[in-house]
Amino acid sequence: MYKINDNYLKLPGSYLFSTIGKKVSEYKAANPDKSIISLGIGDVTLPLAPVVVDTLHSAVDEMADAATFKGYAPDLGYEFLRQAIADNDYKARGVDIAIDEIFVSDGAKSDSGNIGDIFSEDNKIAVCDPVYPVYVDTNAMSGRTGEYITSEQKWSNVIYMPCTADTGFAPEIPEETPDIIYLCFPNNPTGSTINKEELQKWVDYALKVGAVIIYDAAYEAYISEDDVPHSIYECEGAKACAIEIRSFSKNAGFTGTRLGFTVIPKELKSGDVSLNSLWARRHGTKFNGAPYIIQKAGAAIYTEEGKKQTKDMVAYYMENARLIREELEKAGYVVSGGINAPYIWLKTPENQTSWEFFDNLLENANVVGTPGSGFGPSGEGYFRLTAFGSHENTREALERIKRL
Ligand code: PLP
Repeated sequence: MYKINDNYLKLPGSYLFSTIGKKVSEYKAANPDKSIISLGIGDVTLPLAPVVVDTLHSAVDEMADAATFKGYAPDLGYEFLRQAIADNDYKARGVDIAIDEIFVSDGAKSDSGNIGDIFSEDNKIAVCDPVYPVYVDTNAMSGRTGEYITSEQKWSNVIYMPCTADTGFAPEIPEETPDIIYLCFPNNPTGSTINKEELQKWVDYALKVGAVIIYDAAYEAYISEDDVPHSIYECEGAKACAIEIRSFSKNAGFTGTRLGFTVIPKELKSGDVSLNSLWARRHGTKFNGAPYIIQKAGAAIYTEEGKKQTKDMVAYYMENARLIREELEKAGYVVSGGINAPYIWLKTPENQTSWEFFDNLLENANVVGTPGSGFGPSGEGYFRLTAFGSHENTREALERIKRL
């Protein structure tokens, strides 16, 4: 008789964005005449950059010709892409990452969820609270998080590191020692960052207690302030204690095209076992490789044209972020984020819960955002708006919110 992985049964409700999607569909069905603006999910809206589109076309032509056709991709990804990543994302910032420390993937969601495969079940994880739900949910699926305590909206075996107004939306070193520490900067959903000195403290701590940091830098391209590190490897000693996860989704619009990568330095070892070799083994066995045409398109963002075009995309969204911050502040909302990230984090007015404000916004302004409590218990009383809309929709949504 087969048995299921009953850890899945412990997961509360559905994935946050499925719940939102369902609520919005129901509202639309009941109110077909209303035009709804979404500043909710973290998806981009601008089309792929011209250089990416041209490269996709030419890569398809290569696949159509027996002389240039490509089959299975190399396990770690094509060298042309890994070299471009090593040179542009790391060497240009004074960080030496070898190309066999870079694993090309289909995106940061898969990697941040799958990375748990190389760690034993009895590791204790620490997460920022609130944060991108994938870290906790995937650890729950692996049986690492204990039981879900509905009344507290917490798992019994997870160390939550509150990131609230009191802590400047940054985590503090926890009292209990974790084995695996998830850090996400710029943070989804709060849009907060920490400076290099602060991040160095986390690296020093991880080295001291023998923890590994899983550093999600999916929003790195949005960093505008000089003292905010783009990579954890800018900190001394980080190669011996940190894995970094990156994405092409938010900097280059690959949410539907799919591309990302994970860095595991060879220095990162548990005893004498290299995590790089464990992940290489997993990658080779369980991951089919990102398609050639997509990797080729990804490499195009590192050309001069590609850098300019993707920088312009980020600037477009950050103009929305500036607008949202300014207009909501003027309207009396308490806002943070939106300076180094495409997310604006606002305190719900009049002590409304996150979901009450969600319903209020959907029904009375026809605007969709994301309830802060969906990202962790400390997100209660907060709400996330994203800067990924068009200028026109963002302005219209703000007008509607101001009329609430
Ligand atoms: N990491 C964070 C923090 C995110 O917010 C998201 C998407 O919203 C992802 C990873 C997913 O990235 P990808 O599209 O590369 O899977």
